[in-house]
Amino acid sequence: MEQKLDGNAAGGILREIFPFEMTTAEGICAGCGATGAIGAMVAYMHGMGTILRCPTCDNVLIRIAHTGGRYWLDMRGVRVLQIIEER
Ligand SMILES: [Zn+2]
Repeated sequence: MEQKLDGNAAGGILREIFPFEMTTAEGICAGCGATGAIGAMVAYMHGMGTILRCPTCDNVLIRIAHTGGRYWLDMRGVRVLQIIEER
């Protein structure tokens, strides 16, 4: 079963991996060049992990799987990821 959500739903697993608030980080889609916050991406959550897609062109931006004590990140769909430094 797969649930279509917004990128904020991926905030939990991203906080397990990165020491920053990642829902406000901005990514540039490698497919269409659209820029947007992770929180505004389209998220699909299922048992195997999380997939974030571009809301403009539906390109897969980030795949996250958590299995066997490891996190697997496939970020080839993001050309650049800009993370806002927390103070
Ligand atoms: Zn795109």
